Amino acid sequence: MPKSKGPNKLKCIHDYCYECAGDSWKEVTLCHLKDCPLWEYRTGQHISTKVYKERMRISFESCAEEFAEIKASVGLEQADFLTAGPNSTRKGKPSAGKRPVPRIAERGSEDVAD
Ligand code: SF4
Repeated sequence: MPKSKGPNKLKCIHDYCYECAGDSWKEVTLCHLKDCPLWEYRTGQHISTKVYKERMRISFESCAEEFAEIKASVGLEQADFLTAGPNSTRKGKPSAGKRPVPRIAERGSEDVAD
């Protein structure tokens, strides 16, 4: 029987943001509530990814008026959409690739199967 992968966390956040933004993908992209803990993942990609940056580059061009309104109303520049918010979930955490892996000797003998 094939293993079920279960729900994808990023897709769940993306879907949640879709509802939060009034069922509009455009509004998800334009969301400027950077203190929301989901903000960095709202598009289904983390803000550090190339996919996110490309999506925002296209949005900056196609939604120039909306971004100008956001700047006028809350002072956020386009560049602010490319940086982490105050509640970043990645602050101080090592990236997955650099996370130290404990050695077997450090885990203790109870982890070693006989
Ligand atoms: S980031 Fe937060 S405020 Fe923005 S759409 Fe998602 S849930 Fe709503």
